[in-house]
Amino acid sequence: MLKINEIKATSIISKSNLPDSDYVINPYVGCNHACLYCYARFMKRFTGHDEPWGEFVDVKINAPDLIPNNTFKYRGKSIFIASVTDPYLPLERKYQLTRRVLEKLIPLRPKLGIQSKSDLIVRDIDLLKQFDDCEVGLTITTLDEKLQQELEPTASSPERRIKALEELHQAGLKTYVFIGPILPLLTDWKKIILATKHCTDFYMFENLNLSGGGVKSSVGAWLAACHPEWQTEYDKIYARGSDYWDKMETEIKEFCREHQIEARVYFHHGK
Ligand code: SF4
Repeated sequence: MLKINEIKATSIISKSNLPDSDYVINPYVGCNHACLYCYARFMKRFTGHDEPWGEFVDVKINAPDLIPNNTFKYRGKSIFIASVTDPYLPLERKYQLTRRVLEKLIPLRPKLGIQSKSDLIVRDIDLLKQFDDCEVGLTITTLDEKLQQELEPTASSPERRIKALEELHQAGLKTYVFIGPILPLLTDWKKIILATKHCTDFYMFENLNLSGGGVKSSVGAWLAACHPEWQTEYDKIYARGSDYWDKMETEIKEFCREHQIEARVYFHHGK
């Protein structure tokens, strides 16, 4: 059962520690896409929630009002929406926070990056087109709908995400697919590229990082309950000294070079 709280935030544009972003905006706290591998579950600690991750969302109802007017501070700076929630949660249909944040950002002329697992993102094509510099991404971790339902229960199906990408691309927006986290043995990244390259300008890749305790226990419990047959292979891949990810990173870079695909690889190697 989703617990929804309307809250008033004190600020909305935060300094980013993500690669390639100066600032981040998170219109919501929590995320009911409830992805099994979500690294953002650490947010529970900072926000005093004891509900399971995915079962609460705080709605920052004043988010658009916190975007300043008439400032040059963000001109040409990269702002990413969103780092610890999805800007197009089902609740966004009602609250329209992301939409109203975008309206306020356009005159500030930042370099915008926005990424979602929901096809609701196409609702805002009219606004996204008004940014001087805008990259719009859909995350795809698998094309297998059954597996996607296990991993990301309330997000759009892979098919709907691809349709959204097509619509964004046809509207003239710069699109990307975030293939991440790559789940060993499960994420067929080549298949995802082949299914989307007609409507995608570039790709980002991230591997599944199990160094966070919350992610490790969530993914571990899922493997044990639903896919015990993969456990041994996962143990080998995540064993000290494994070169699994080094090899995959090389393979991705070679594949993308051969196919003249722009690739941005953000792999964690546990080093
Ligand atoms: S959409 Fe992103 S923030 Fe939301 S649960 Fe999934 S991984 Fe976490």
